[in-house]
Amino acid sequence: MSGDVVRGTRLTYAIESADWVASDVAIRILDGGRPFASGAMRDCVRCQELDPDGATIPSVAKALRPGSGLPPAAVFDEAMTQAVAEAFAQEFNRRVQPLGFPTVAFLPVGVVSCAGAAARVGGRPQRVLALEPELRGQYVKYNTNDGSVVGDAASSSAGGVAQAFSHFTYEASGRQLVVCDIQGVGTCFTDPQVHSRDGQGFGAGNLGDRGLRAFAATHRCAGVCRAMGLVPARSETAGERARLEVDEDLAWRLAREEAAGADAGECRGAVGLQEVCTPTWYRATVTRGAARLGMR
Ligand SMILES: [Zn+2]
Repeated sequence: MSGDVVRGTRLTYAIESADWVASDVAIRILDGGRPFASGAMRDCVRCQELDPDGATIPSVAKALRPGSGLPPAAVFDEAMTQAVAEAFAQEFNRRVQPLGFPTVAFLPVGVVSCAGAAARVGGRPQRVLALEPELRGQYVKYNTNDGSVVGDAASSSAGGVAQAFSHFTYEASGRQLVVCDIQGVGTCFTDPQVHSRDGQGFGAGNLGDRGLRAFAATHRCAGVCRAMGLVPARSETAGERARLEVDEDLAWRLAREEAAGADAGECRGAVGLQEVCTPTWYRATVTRGAARLGMR
């Protein structure tokens, strides 16, 4: 199959080592770089990742549009969203596996910086792209951007697990964030949305406090939620909101302790769920990734 091949360095975030991992990557841009989907912020093109052994992986590359008004580092937002979703997925799996429910996974999203020739996307040269495998099969949207269940998506085994996963992220984060817009094939998910309490990071779809309240108001517990013993995510009351502010103080304290530990040269293990809920972690991780790719 013909198409421009671009080479570069890909960063993916590893939960286990709490850092970016770099690898060489070659991508063939398909359809002459004509986007199959374009939003106000991004163009999406089909491509293939070329394995050194000759295999090809159907993939999607996303580039920021010039008129988006976003800084170049915004290309990291999807990789960060995936990293946070995957961090919660690993803990969720530890909880649901003994109960006999299916485990979940999120497709990896990398950030690619082209070496040599830039990729041409939508007729423009693009040096930095987000890259993810294209999910093929019976694609299902399980819940929406505000967390409400789509149709009868809670009734299937995968659907029940998808609803419970969103609910789990809300509780396990101390209600500091929720991962919703759960969609994919079976329980392999892609393109989720994070709403964080402060509304920072995670792209333009992060509705912040409003997104969290919408989730609490619209989520309907599935059997998996009850089996996991999740507290019903009813609408947040004034009293609860006061408590949440205390939780936010806790999140900041954890962030400061984390920063102090890093300064002391402490050996880092896997990234913790409390840590990924902090704006400090988000900003520091994007900054570190952008620096690794030589972005200013
Ligand atoms: Zn629930």
